[in-house]
Amino acid sequence: MAGKNKRKEIALERIYRLFELAEAEFEKHPERSKRYVELARKLGTRNRATIPTELKKRFCKKCGAFLVKGKNSEWKEAGELVEIKCRKCGYCFKKSLKQEKKKKK
Ligand SMILES: [Zn+2]
Repeated sequence: MAGKNKRKEIALERIYRLFELAEAEFEKHPERSKRYVELARKLGTRNRATIPTELKKRFCKKCGAFLVKGKNSEWKEAGELVEIKCRKCGYCFKKSLKQEKKKKK
């Protein structure tokens, strides 16, 4: 089957787009943001595309909420790691800060 990578690429693009939408809707419609995160995660699973680390910092794996730093999540940075806590369900997770910097323009 051809175009397996292409499919993954398209899925990734859509995942990024969904997270952009989630961000845009967050202030007024947090429940919509949550829905976008859900869609993005499903897209990833269906197309075997891994959600990029930088985006993994933007949602809670446990309750699925879209997380905004200082709004519904707490960020504690320690060296190259950041500990993110979801204020909705209290779930805590750690991510590397290194990869995020690499991705930024
Ligand atoms: Zn949560």
